[in-house]
Amino acid sequence: MIENIVGVIVGVIFWGGIIVGIPWLMSHLQKKARKRAAEKEIICPNPNCGYKGKPKIKKCFSVTVFIILWLLGIFPALLYVILVRDKILCPKCGMTAREFLE
Ligand SMILES: [Zn+2]
Repeated sequence: MIENIVGVIVGVIFWGGIIVGIPWLMSHLQKKARKRAAEKEIICPNPNCGYKGKPKIKKCFSVTVFIILWLLGIFPALLYVILVRDKILCPKCGMTAREFLE
């Protein structure tokens, strides 16, 4: 009887930790990545623009959407993480930039 109760409690803590912990970790990593990206500088790939400096970050990844998908299952959530990323844009012409100046 006691073993059963302990088993249930351990199970709830374990699965609860995974269900709550993964979105929390994703949101934490996302915040860190955004902060890092905003501190770096880009060179605009548009030859007519040639902007060099701080990028504009377009927020595409939403933690709320991630949590909804996560509750639906691990695969939709995983696909969302792989496919949806924040975009790094040139603030002058709006072109998507990829390379960061180190
Ligand atoms: Zn530009």
